[in-house]
Amino acid sequence: MALAHEATDLLQRLIRFNTVNPPGNERPAQEMLHAELERAGFECELVGATGERPNLIARLRGHEDGPKLCYLSHVDTVLADPAEWTVDPWSGEIRDGYLWGRGALDMKGQVACEVAAACALGRAGWRPARGELLVVVTCDEEAGATYGAQWLCENVPDKVRCDMVVNEGAGEAIEFRGRRLYTLCVGEKGVFRFRLATEGRAGHASMPGIGDNALLRMVEVLARLDGRQPPLDSYPAGVESLEALTGEPVVDVSEAVARVLGAEPRLRDHLESMMRVTLSPTMIRASEKENVIPSRCTVRVDCRVPPGMGDEHVRTRVQDLLGPAETSGYTLEFSEEIVGNSSPLDTQLAGHLREFVRRQDPEAGLMPLVLTGFTDSHWFRKAFPECVAYGFFPQRVMSRFDTLPLIHAPDERIALDDIEFASRFFNELAPSVLG
Ligand SMILES: [Zn+2]
Repeated sequence: MALAHEATDLLQRLIRFNTVNPPGNERPAQEMLHAELERAGFECELVGATGERPNLIARLRGHEDGPKLCYLSHVDTVLADPAEWTVDPWSGEIRDGYLWGRGALDMKGQVACEVAAACALGRAGWRPARGELLVVVTCDEEAGATYGAQWLCENVPDKVRCDMVVNEGAGEAIEFRGRRLYTLCVGEKGVFRFRLATEGRAGHASMPGIGDNALLRMVEVLARLDGRQPPLDSYPAGVESLEALTGEPVVDVSEAVARVLGAEPRLRDHLESMMRVTLSPTMIRASEKENVIPSRCTVRVDCRVPPGMGDEHVRTRVQDLLGPAETSGYTLEFSEEIVGNSSPLDTQLAGHLREFVRRQDPEAGLMPLVLTGFTDSHWFRKAFPECVAYGFFPQRVMSRFDTLPLIHAPDERIALDDIEFASRFFNELAPSVLG
């Protein structure tokens, strides 16, 4: 229980540093973690693009060369409006078996469990038989990672180069057909945001017939998206996820999804988004003046794409819904093209996670999934193509259906028993992987 107490205390201290990003202001929190890890025997450094927003890299070298395992996390959070909270979001208050505060789940809770577990190993004199244990705590994850993981991977790759990453993204259990499955994030969808445009002819708004209103042309185009999304896609990581749920090979993706949703309708939003290109129009712009009929209207569409699929696939899916651009009254221009990535499931690291889960819970298994958003893991997969990166922060008091509504929301909190559970996981993982 000493480890759980240490992790709980560390989490309270972390929550009391306000690291709402922007502006982040991560330095004081990073200095505190730096001091803890250094005391436990880690070689530590703070590095970053600016002095106020450093990243922490802590390293425990083994007796011989070998694989590098990285515990990855971020210490910044999204904002919190105290008026909407039951407790002060920066209090770290313990109430009813939970520790409350902004970041308790996303993701200071995991920072605290990883750092407390690593410190306990270091203080006890453990060193990897081969390889290295790295603890990397980034800044700026919530606002795009420009100063955080992206900066590290692009500017000082040798300092963070690793073979295995355990990061955020999943880990909470769900009950599915009477069996407990721990979610495991193996990948993240890509982002292919684009701009749709329609053209018309400007004119004085007092005489509607004098122009050709591009905004009304856009209404026709957008109506084709109302209530419709592209068909489901078959891709390896998605199929593995469905197979973990159905327990058998997937022949037809739509049929497999329907079967899963028949057993657990609460998976609908996630599964239906995970298994296809998704299109969400979010911003519209037309005339700059109330009395001018717009000659041009643009809409920004947030588009998320399964790992490995690129712009050609997106164009095909969009055309299926909107018709070909040349003859259907619109143009399409990409503003962001990030191909999603994933790590395979048949790895030694996954074997160690599965082992841990079975030790706790002999009947339990893993449920791999692909996130619809993305985490710092994708910077590591991109920079180090051989690196296996998973999102795994095991929790079982709170299920994934309990945690998701609290992330980036009021009254974010973590169960004290889950802090104990997860810190034990990180404490056992490094010796089982590195010897
Ligand atoms: Zn996060």
